[in-house]
Amino acid sequence: MDMYYVSTRGGEEKKSAAEAIKQGIAENGGLFMPSSLPRITQEDLEKLAQMTYPQRAAHILSLFLTDYQYDELLADCEKAYAEDKFPGGPAPITDYSDKIKMLELWHGPTCAFKDMALQIMPRMLARALEKTNEKRTALILVATSGDTGKAALEGYKDVPGVQIQVFYPVDGVSNMQKRQMAVQEGENVCVCAIKGNFDDAQNGVKKIFGDTAFNQQLEQNGYFLSSANSINWGRLCPQIVYYVSAYCDMVARGDLAMGEKLDVCVPTGNFGNIFAAFIAKQMGLPIGKLICASNRNNILTDFLRTGVYDKNRPFYATMSPSMDILISSNLERLLYFLCGAEETAVYMKSLAENGKYEISKEIMAALSSHFIGAFCSEEETAATIKTAFEHGYLCDTHTAVALKCALAYEKESTDKTAGKLLVVSTASPYKFAPSVLKALDQSIPENEFDSIDALIGATGTKAPKPLLCLKDKKIRFDQTIEADAMKNAVLSFTQSN
Ligand SMILES: *Cc1c(COP(=O)(O)O)cnc(C)c1O
Repeated sequence: MDMYYVSTRGGEEKKSAAEAIKQGIAENGGLFMPSSLPRITQEDLEKLAQMTYPQRAAHILSLFLTDYQYDELLADCEKAYAEDKFPGGPAPITDYSDKIKMLELWHGPTCAFKDMALQIMPRMLARALEKTNEKRTALILVATSGDTGKAALEGYKDVPGVQIQVFYPVDGVSNMQKRQMAVQEGENVCVCAIKGNFDDAQNGVKKIFGDTAFNQQLEQNGYFLSSANSINWGRLCPQIVYYVSAYCDMVARGDLAMGEKLDVCVPTGNFGNIFAAFIAKQMGLPIGKLICASNRNNILTDFLRTGVYDKNRPFYATMSPSMDILISSNLERLLYFLCGAEETAVYMKSLAENGKYEISKEIMAALSSHFIGAFCSEEETAATIKTAFEHGYLCDTHTAVALKCALAYEKESTDKTAGKLLVVSTASPYKFAPSVLKALDQSIPENEFDSIDALIGATGTKAPKPLLCLKDKKIRFDQTIEADAMKNAVLSFTQSN
């Protein structure tokens, strides 16, 4: 059966997967959702267990992207998840304890889990351009607070029919993240630091997307704008795969009996990663509770506990910056799933107008049957890095938030049937070396590469190659511009190629 995509805010719009991936967001401002969810049976899982990761990915993607050939998807997945991109495999599981297992999603080119989607999504977009007979060049604009920008650059570099331009706040990303972006290779990439904070970068990008006259000018020059953030279905869909894959691997490792329920704990920002787990559960994967782990910006914890989403609150810059978010975009998809388009549109209107909404008792009950909200303070995050290392596992600041919430859940759980718990590990500790060193009571060197050496020295662990290699790469982008000069920067980028 053919799958099509509809808006979370209703309306008549119906798109193929290729069109939805190209367009990114629905015309009425909603997010695209598949018209139905495919099922995975136990029999399917037994078959998937025999497959490689790229085969598992192609199988799951083909259920959602029915306008793509299975062979196209398989060829793309084999390239995206190849050994040279993910040495040792894309989604290995390691033991934390008998009960708690870590799903490590940071073995890709940029050392954070964003690679899991952003290595495959550009290939899906390139196919979408072909399938829709697109003659214009897709210009991907990204505002980033660090991880997404680099992962998108690595994914889209030298993809035909696409150019990518990334804006980041000059003082709002770590030195390592800055370095990662400054040395980016590829003929179709451009990176600009802007004076201002992340909101300035994001607002600048939003303004450009909303500027009709400017979009017409781009159109005349042969371009159309597209986005790479997690509101795009092309980002979300590949994330379903690693939950299914992890389940198969855990059965093979003897951690689970086939069919046994698995609880999952995910460090959450935009609610993309954990929503992918929820979809896997709806498809039939035996997942029990979904623990939504937040840092000090615990708006999701409050929402899941009270049913009130209220963004009128202070924003904190924490040591897990990729989770510092007050509007978790993908929550809209969950609301749509639980209460339909009409009610979702009402909540989203209230969020836009008052920064707040409260869900009904019925939805609250449905929500509570799947999700548990938990959070972790800055002190607890640091303490968890230390105790986890003493226990034998070195984790980054984001993973530490999830691990702390998982350990607390395990301790408090009165449910005697509670089984294994999978904690999603989203970044290499070396990507956030200064914060990890500090948590381990070590001194922090000034230079980002000295921090890597110090972390190797303090822990005896290995640093990922992509970070070590940065040192020898030539700086290509060292330009800082005013936030109000972003439009000009876009124009000159399109004229330079
Ligand atoms: C993006 C990111 C997160 C948050 O993921 P969401 O899908 O936005 O919830 C967590 N950890 C790291 C390291 C990230 O880069």
